[in-house]
Amino acid sequence: MSSARKRVIISACLLGEQCRYDGKTKEVNAVIDAFKDYEIVPFCPEAPLFGTPRERISVVEVDGQNRIVTDSTQKDVTSLLEDEINSFMQLHKNIDRIILKSKSPSCGYETTPILNDKNETLKLGSGIAASMFEKHYKDVKIESELDF
Ligand code: SF4
Repeated sequence: MSSARKRVIISACLLGEQCRYDGKTKEVNAVIDAFKDYEIVPFCPEAPLFGTPRERISVVEVDGQNRIVTDSTQKDVTSLLEDEINSFMQLHKNIDRIILKSKSPSCGYETTPILNDKNETLKLGSGIAASMFEKHYKDVKIESELDF
C-alpha cells in the first residue's frame, strides 16, 4: 500500500535545526504547523559540507555568473554545493511543495543579495539551491517562510 501523504522539502533551519552558519536556527512555527500532514524532507546543503558553525558564504557575480564564495577566505565553493544539491535531488524525486529560507546564499529564492567583488549588493536574486530546484522541480512553486 503506497503512502498518500504529500511531500514537502523545507530548509532545515526553518524546522528548528541549528544548522545556520552561526550555529543558530531560524525556526518558524507557522511553517511547521502548516505541514503537519505532510512528509517533511529537511534540506540543508551547507552544514554537511562545511560544518556548523562555519564561515559565512555569499553569492558573488563573477564574469556575469553567480558563484558562491566564502566571505573571508574568498574560496569558490560553487561546485561543492552543486554536487551536494544534485545528490539531494536524485534522492528526492517526487515533491509537492518546497519551502526555502529567504535571503540565504543557498536557499533564498529571489531574495538573496547578489554581490560584486567589492562586496556591494548589485541586485536580489536566488541562492544556488533555489536556482537548481527551480530548474529540477519545474512544476513546484518555490515558497519561503515569508509566505506563512
Ligand atoms: S538557509 Fe539553507 S543552507 Fe542556510 S542553514 Fe538554512 S537550510 Fe542550511
